[in-house]
Amino acid sequence: MRLLKAFLIAVLVGAGGLAIKPATAFAQTSDAPSDAFSQAIADARASMMGDPVAALGHAEQAEELASSGGAGETYAIELATAWWLQAEALTRLGRPREAHPIAERALAQLGADPTPTKLYADILLALGRTGKLTGDHGEALEQLQRAYDVYRTIGEVRSEAIVLQSIGSIYNDAQQYQRAVEYYVDAAGRYSDPSLDLAAANNLGNAYKELGRYDDALASYLDAREIAAEMGSTMLEARILNNIGSLHASFGRFNAADEAVTEAFEVTGAETTAEWARFLWGVRAQAAHGRGENASAVRHIERTFDGVDLATTPQHFAEFHALAADIYEDLGQYRMATPHLRAFKRLEDEGQSVASSANLALLGAQFDFAEQELQIEALRAEGLEQDLELSRAKARQRLAIAGSLILLCLVGVVAAFWRHRVAQERNKMLSRALYEDAETGLPSRQALEVEIDRTSRTTGRPATVTALEIDRHVHLEGVLGFNSFAELKARMAQRIVADGHASKVMVISRGVLGVVSDAKLDDARAVAECMRKCFVRPITLDGLAIDVAVVAGIAREADAETSVKNAVIAIGQAQEDRAGTAIFDAKRYGDPSKNLSLMSRMLAATENGEMQLHYQPKLNLRTGRFGAAEALCRWRDPREGLLSPNDFIPLAEETGHIRAFTEWALERAVTDQKWLRERGFDLNIAINISGALIADSGFANLALGIASERVGALTFEITETAMMNDPERAMDNLKKWHKAGIKLAIDDYGSGLSSLAYLKTLPSDELKLDRAFVTHVASSTRDRMLVKSTADLAHNLGLEMTAEGVETDEGLALLKLLGCDWAQGYALSRALPVDELAKFLAEMQVHAALDDASRKHGLS
Ligand code: C2E
Ligand code: CA
Ligand code: CA
Repeated sequence: MRLLKAFLIAVLVGAGGLAIKPATAFAQTSDAPSDAFSQAIADARASMMGDPVAALGHAEQAEELASSGGAGETYAIELATAWWLQAEALTRLGRPREAHPIAERALAQLGADPTPTKLYADILLALGRTGKLTGDHGEALEQLQRAYDVYRTIGEVRSEAIVLQSIGSIYNDAQQYQRAVEYYVDAAGRYSDPSLDLAAANNLGNAYKELGRYDDALASYLDAREIAAEMGSTMLEARILNNIGSLHASFGRFNAADEAVTEAFEVTGAETTAEWARFLWGVRAQAAHGRGENASAVRHIERTFDGVDLATTPQHFAEFHALAADIYEDLGQYRMATPHLRAFKRLEDEGQSVASSANLALLGAQFDFAEQELQIEALRAEGLEQDLELSRAKARQRLAIAGSLILLCLVGVVAAFWRHRVAQERNKMLSRALYEDAETGLPSRQALEVEIDRTSRTTGRPATVTALEIDRHVHLEGVLGFNSFAELKARMAQRIVADGHASKVMVISRGVLGVVSDAKLDDARAVAECMRKCFVRPITLDGLAIDVAVVAGIAREADAETSVKNAVIAIGQAQEDRAGTAIFDAKRYGDPSKNLSLMSRMLAATENGEMQLHYQPKLNLRTGRFGAAEALCRWRDPREGLLSPNDFIPLAEETGHIRAFTEWALERAVTDQKWLRERGFDLNIAINISGALIADSGFANLALGIASERVGALTFEITETAMMNDPERAMDNLKKWHKAGIKLAIDDYGSGLSSLAYLKTLPSDELKLDRAFVTHVASSTRDRMLVKSTADLAHNLGLEMTAEGVETDEGLALLKLLGCDWAQGYALSRALPVDELAKFLAEMQVHAALDDASRKHGLS
């Protein structure tokens, strides 16, 4: 009984009749690990229908328990479950606006591409409902469609039916009552239990009423009443009687209406003080007014609006406002009628805008899968398939006879027409393939080049190209998936255009967008800065706010192709300068003689001691010990001072000097490892191996030779970019190294061309997450999510994960929580000369020993 009363609270009220929403299955148990947490979840589920306030409390408690429970594997799911239940409770409490973001959070908690589970679909369903209730029908349909797909995948037929009912109610909002009926019928046909059947029958009654189908409506309501009676719920019965009364009154059957209301009052007895009982008085008033008994009509309608603020009534009062206005007008009480007229007008407008929003959304979603299935179902059921085939065959026959005559005359014309059409279609297709980026629908690079030529022809001088690279685009693409990433690019393009920075945005390559203008270079730079700033506001995609940043490169050359190429190169120059925007600088590529002298000095430096290898220690977050270090070169040049590796390594790669340099570094590292070992420090030493060398078999063998001298573990750090040129040869070498016991680490993951497909094929042991994701981990939720998902990814692939660039203690603590295995960064130590490294490690050992001791003696 308590549950049934509770069910009433889950009842929603919609236009044209009191609508009834089926209850979701809340009685399930979960196999969450913590007892207290499981209990809170079970309590929330149990009280959801009867007492959503209590359910909300339990769900909040569950959230607290999940959060304090730490970072177990089930943590994300626990939190998502707690949030989902909060959203459900808030929805039931009429607070969909608060529920929506919580459901969104729950969804985000499941990660980028959740496995199809009941929880996932339930969250989507919750999002669909809150979307509908807040008037965002587009969102509602999208989420419902997704929920439907997941329920189908996992075979949750009952939930499928609930989704179909929800979609039906959107058609109801759109005032497409016939379609609403189809969905309700379909839903009812898929699954049957009292709660669902009752909702379906009642909703059907409402829709039939709107369609003017009195008999059908009455039959549906009577079905609903029977189910309510079987369920033993007098309150539900009374509400359905109210709908029946209202149906009679609308069709001029005033006595029948009165009878229904009397019955409703009888059924509920003492409980008629319920808030919704005011609608019974409304129906009474309607009947009395219909009979011309205005004196009693006014008494009844006053009870309907007793204590109600006329300016803020919800939709289901609309009909009664119109009635009240009529009654007062008939009585000559115009002052009383006015506020009701105003309220009626307000609700009418609101209703219209809800209807048009719902219609627009339905149009956009082209949501007709249920209808298709419905038709197929119906055809099969009634054996109409053969009839249809038969009638089609007949029709074809008739058409054939008539057609053969006409055809003779028309054939020539039609053939010509078709040839033309086909050619046109083909041209359209070809030009689309060429000038349109297939994924985003944006203009392609070819279109960009055409635009450059067109602009320079009109202005008489070369056009300016701005290339915009999406920061960490490869990682974003990995996290979001291809489709969402394409959508993201399209949205970014829209943003640039909407903010007035360009009239058209094109796609240069996967992560690079382009814009053409006739601006001078400096003006283009100013515009590029504005474009960068317009992404301060995140882009919302599937309810997820995504922060994007772009780096811009600008160039203006004589021909289109060179302009595009140089604009892209300028992006790299901007990145080297750690600037957001750069104009292509030809000089920076130039002067080969200077470069060569730098290279010969570099090689000399490895022999005369100006070049050193420093070591940045890495902390094992599981053991709390420094078990590894990365070798990083440091060059003090007498002429130039201290040079950063970034100043000479890229050039060394380009000029081929990198091989001799790396051989030196490798020998040095092995020697230093021995030196450290003699002092009692057993370290895994990591060496950076340039991409240029990975496919070099000569180097591979030489490296094997040097590595065989090692006295501890040795890791080669490589980037995937390295694999791109000659993947087969590179793979051979990697395998050779791996077989010889050299560990392999994927460096700078997320910054370059990382792709999952590649990761899987590489024989690697470690994934080093680029510091761009790590440095702000304490302040950025998004970075935390990225770190967590990357750690999960790494572990799924059997790799250890290292977080690079840890700059704060807070970040360090978080990284451990997020599942990283190793940390490296200024928060721990900078790269140190080998003797200082030894001192550092000795000090750390003393600390660790002291910690151990104090723990043993209960001091901390
Ligand atoms: P990398 O392999 O990603 O090395 C990590 C870089 O991050 C180092 O810069 C290191 O000093 C820096 N770093 C470490 N912790 C932090 C931190 O907490 N915050 C910040 N902001 N930075 C941190 P470094 O030494 O300037 O090296 C730059 C790059 O040059 C290296 O990036 C690597 O790609 C290359 N490199 C350095 N030494 C060698 C080498 O011996 N051989 C080769 N082939 N490349 C090298
Ligand atoms: Ca490295
Ligand atoms: Ca790195």
